[in-house]
Amino acid sequence: MSEITERSELTGQGWTQAYTSAVMDTFGPPQRILVRGEGAYVWDADGKRYLDLLAGIAVNALGHAHPTLTAAVSAQLGTLGHVSNFFGTPAQITLAERLLRLAEAPDGSRVFFTNSGTEANEAAFKMTRRTGRTRVLALEGGFHGRTLGALALTAKEAYREPFEPLPGGVEHLPFGDTGALEQAFSPDVVAARGEVAALVVEPIQGEAGVRELPAGYLALARRLTTAADALLVLDEVQTGMGRTGSWLAHQQPEIGGGVVPDVVTLAKGLGGGIPVGAVIAYGDRAAGLLGRGQHGTTFGGNPVAAVAALATIGVIERDRLLAHVVEVGEVLRRAIEGAGNPLVAEVRGRGLLLAVRLTRPVAPEVAAVALEAGFVVNAVAPDAIRLAPPLVLTIDQALDAARFFADVVVPDSSKES
Ligand SMILES: *Cc1c(COP(=O)(O)O)cnc(C)c1O
Repeated sequence: MSEITERSELTGQGWTQAYTSAVMDTFGPPQRILVRGEGAYVWDADGKRYLDLLAGIAVNALGHAHPTLTAAVSAQLGTLGHVSNFFGTPAQITLAERLLRLAEAPDGSRVFFTNSGTEANEAAFKMTRRTGRTRVLALEGGFHGRTLGALALTAKEAYREPFEPLPGGVEHLPFGDTGALEQAFSPDVVAARGEVAALVVEPIQGEAGVRELPAGYLALARRLTTAADALLVLDEVQTGMGRTGSWLAHQQPEIGGGVVPDVVTLAKGLGGGIPVGAVIAYGDRAAGLLGRGQHGTTFGGNPVAAVAALATIGVIERDRLLAHVVEVGEVLRRAIEGAGNPLVAEVRGRGLLLAVRLTRPVAPEVAAVALEAGFVVNAVAPDAIRLAPPLVLTIDQALDAARFFADVVVPDSSKES
């Protein structure tokens, strides 16, 4: 695009100045200006190459500029790019069927398409209201997005407080606390606060620093919600679509204990980088909660986004990336832990959704050193570095990343808070 190529002489610094005077300051200044990517690598405006261990926050499942994804999107855009939901498209219908299959959703299940994770959770939140109850349970540390409904489900006070009042009825329970969960469904609490409409949880909390729910928690959640006739909503926006080594994280017995949820929300990795989200409603009851005219979207289910998701799913299958994710994730974990850097306490998480827990709260400093060394990582918590690389990360690339963590030191002069 000539308007951009005409500015090719701009350096990273020049672009950053232009960014700050044109783009709203919600994110702070960008760490780098990125101009191109290929596989697991990206290049910045000054020509420096980085191994991308964040993948646009668990989004670029196939890495950057994957030829299959590029071809699918280009072909669809060159055929039929957008139609609105007054019309259906083969791409949208095929993706809905594909998602129901990979989710192992029972007969009567249905899909609603969105453009993002927050919109998927917004739709799920609206579904909970249609139960006729308004009491919704979510977990401390949980992150569900930034629109007002999704924000009401999100626990983090700093995100919520500037925007109150938020939609009501949401209670946040201590993370992973089975006693607190049982208590929330107990007759006394129900008499005081009302019947539970839904419990909304992430199988592994991503933004909270890659924290996995304790074994048995989801199974208990399923028993309690079923007994109370409440919905079990799993936010798999970050954990879904192969990220943890199975299509959906809760499908792994150690995480899900065989539960069948009522609702699963997806986004991030679904379109391999093209914005697309989805709500899967399991069975007739959940699928019927949003009736005709009760929800909508202009872009959701857009055929370009739909073929991006189909291409991403197709490559994950063709290249057996679910098994690859388990293998390369294990290599990455063992190599980082095995190097014995005193700064590294442990590596937690599953598949390619990992966090390197540090022995000191210097994650921002480590992330800055990583960037200088040519690695994109994310300081997800003061003492944790999140790794969510493309699912196509090779073993060699994983070992490169591990070598960084083996050697990294944070100068003593760095502040520690
Ligand atoms: C990222 C994320 C969201 C929000 O998705 P957006 O596409 O940024 O709106 C919601 N839930 C979880 C678990 C996420 O990780």
